[in-house]
Amino acid sequence: MTVLRKNLIDGEWLGEAGSRNINPSNTNDVVGEYASAGPEEAKQAIAAAKAAFPGWSRSGPLARHAVLKKTSDEIMARKDEIGRSLAREEGKTLAEGVGETIRAAQIFDFFAGETLRLSGEMVPSVRPGVGVEMTREGVGVVGIITPWNFPIAIPAWKIAPALAYGNTIVFKPAELVPESAWTIVDILHRAGLPKGVLNLVMGKGSVVGQAMLDSPDVNAISFTGSVVTGKRVAAASVEHMRKFQLEMGGKNPLVVLDDADLAVAVDCAVNGAYFSTGQRCTASSRLIVTEGIHDRFVDAMKERLDKLVIGDALDAKTQIGPVVDQTQLKQDEDYIAIGRQEGAELAFGGERLERETPGFYLRPALFTGATNAMRISREEIFGPVANVIRVKDYDEALTVANDTPFGLTSGICTTSLKHATHFKRNSEAGMVMVNLPTAGVDFHVPFGGRKGSSYGPREQGRYAMEFYTTVKTAYTFAG
Ligand code: ADP
Repeated sequence: MTVLRKNLIDGEWLGEAGSRNINPSNTNDVVGEYASAGPEEAKQAIAAAKAAFPGWSRSGPLARHAVLKKTSDEIMARKDEIGRSLAREEGKTLAEGVGETIRAAQIFDFFAGETLRLSGEMVPSVRPGVGVEMTREGVGVVGIITPWNFPIAIPAWKIAPALAYGNTIVFKPAELVPESAWTIVDILHRAGLPKGVLNLVMGKGSVVGQAMLDSPDVNAISFTGSVVTGKRVAAASVEHMRKFQLEMGGKNPLVVLDDADLAVAVDCAVNGAYFSTGQRCTASSRLIVTEGIHDRFVDAMKERLDKLVIGDALDAKTQIGPVVDQTQLKQDEDYIAIGRQEGAELAFGGERLERETPGFYLRPALFTGATNAMRISREEIFGPVANVIRVKDYDEALTVANDTPFGLTSGICTTSLKHATHFKRNSEAGMVMVNLPTAGVDFHVPFGGRKGSSYGPREQGRYAMEFYTTVKTAYTFAG
């Protein structure tokens, strides 16, 4: 029997079956049925969050610590089950699903600790006898809108700091991955959150998400998703004079220099470009390779790609799972066709694969002979597709790496301290990796980018405080 997961509004599970969740490794497998909220439910959720804010914002560190710690402990204890369910609904491999679940537990643990470390400053005023205190307070009702590619980690890294700093939440997850979202909300709810503090409204972005954007009672929105929707969030938020934070696309470069360790470079490129089926905003889709190592690099890449096991996400042997759904698969295939039309050579893969069960299987694609002006080098594909762009030397590599509308991550493979140092200083990206894949970041340090990739304060680690709090400066004259 298919389970029915409901929305959580003001502490009550509500709603009728509205949408089905399909396993991309096996489209005959229905993961579950989910309530689909309309504008009215979104309004109720926002009203509940607004009503709960005064209580939660004054709840104090211990109450918040208890909920976040308990949540972390339960996620960790159930990591295999939750990780499997995540892999089933999203299509990343079992190992990646469990790894992401552990990450979510670590994030809740980190922010549980942060509740006990919140501090302010006190300074003497320029006026004698006056003291000045600078403290941080929660912003109010935070709207959290998340994408499908990290079904538990992204909700965790928004929900945990929002709660830790005393905000209340209306959470709208992506339509494709409601099970992971429901699970995390169920755990937080049972961990003892007062009613209305966290509300779950599963449903369509154009309906529920839009209702959040249009509400004057949502005081801040943290969004991760496409550039198109990000711009809508921005425009609506300016209209309502609310705080907003956007994490959007990437077209991240990985530079490989002649002096790179070839094995390290291939590891970084294969991991960065293709793991999680290339569906990471931090994926390296532009491999910028200098002349002296180019041919050896391409040969080694083809050899490695040929050995990758592509299949059912729930099979422990699988290294690359399916694409998330039919729409994304079509987008990947369209871009592969565009790359060929533009004159790049499809050096490996790019074709649909048949497996035992019907699913969205695509062999990782590697283009060579690409230029940085091609659409496949400028637009985010969000699939297992990467381009090799051949350059003369380091200087040209850096210019090409920075010539992009995005700026999330970048990477360089080199044994030269001089070039690594220069690249770290001059790469126009929010996160820079040396001899590491462009994807794969720590949870206790800032995450975010520049240019068209991000807007607003950084996420994660202590830097998350900037978005989820507002500063108050209080003056006291004691007489
Ligand atoms: P992706 O291509 O990653 O699905 P989207 O930007 O379409 O990117 O989706 C990211 C999130 O934004 C999802 O939760 C989606 O439902 C939501 N969303 C889509 N359209 C809107 C909208 N008009 N207003 C608010 N949220 C939206």
